[in-house]
Amino acid sequence: GAKARGRGAYAFYSEEMTQRARERLEIEARLRVAMEQGQLLLHYQPQVEVASGRIVGAEALVRWLDPEEGLISPARFIPVAESSGLIGVLGQWVMHEACRQARQWQDEGLPALRVAVNVSPRQFHLTDVASCAAQALAGSGLAARCLELELTESALAERPEEARQTLLRLQALGVHIAVDDFGTGYSSLAHLKRFPIDVLKIDQGFIRDVPGSGDDLAISAAIIAMGHSLGLQVVAEGVETAEQLAFLQGRGCDLYQGYLCSRPLPAEEFAQLLRAQA
Ligand code: C2E
Ligand code: MG
Ligand code: MG
Ligand code: MG
Repeated sequence: GAKARGRGAYAFYSEEMTQRARERLEIEARLRVAMEQGQLLLHYQPQVEVASGRIVGAEALVRWLDPEEGLISPARFIPVAESSGLIGVLGQWVMHEACRQARQWQDEGLPALRVAVNVSPRQFHLTDVASCAAQALAGSGLAARCLELELTESALAERPEEARQTLLRLQALGVHIAVDDFGTGYSSLAHLKRFPIDVLKIDQGFIRDVPGSGDDLAISAAIIAMGHSLGLQVVAEGVETAEQLAFLQGRGCDLYQGYLCSRPLPAEEFAQLLRAQA
């Protein structure tokens, strides 16, 4: 009967929950060891000026190189790092490593780039991101204007006044702030006014079906126009086709990222790409 089915469904559901909880605990324990053993690394995806085609920046994206499994995607371990609190140490490492690498490229004579570092919501609220950035800059000798932090709207929506104070400290340092995955979050327009933001990154979900989808065309065009009228730089994410790039050119979008130029690359391959351009 319905009752039995209900109980069965519940048992199944709770088994699945237990399974998922076990997996999280396992990933958490392994991640702890991986961090101690230096198994995290950064890949870099070019940020390209739409008008000139030149690489002017890089987004640092963390990977976990497991000796047995190979490269593990951040989608699998960042949520675990967030819920376990490991994100504090992980985020600090990412910030230091990205600044160190960007400065090393400059020292090797490559053109000065802006490096963008992701900061997840819990990391933003649990840790002192402004002090962390200041230390990473001082430790590496990278100029603050070469560092950009990517935050999502959800990070700004939580305890907004505290968030604003942190962004003001970052702004005073000279670090740029980007809103990542823009358009997917909540109360976006109010945030733009309240926070010292420099860059909007149009979520790749809006770019995916350009130029086929009229709605996505309209939304992307509106974000570019609004960003520009507020004096912000606009970056399109997930650009894979020449048609998408042509649309962005037509709308005067500033920068793009995506497989059309390159996937995220290990540091050495990224440097080769830069050298080829120089
Ligand atoms: P995100 O910051 O929005 O990064 C963009 C994601 O889109 C990256 O996935 C990138 O590899 C992927 N991507 C880039 N170009 C294209 C394209 O043309 N087509 C498609 N389909 N995808 C593209 P990735 O590297 O797996 O990172 C996923 C997410 O994990 C990131 O989303 C970010 O939220 C988070 N993440 C990555 N690294 C870090 C980190 O160091 N710290 C924190 N807190 N989060 C990170
Ligand atoms: Mg990002
Ligand atoms: Mg994004
Ligand atoms: Mg994302």
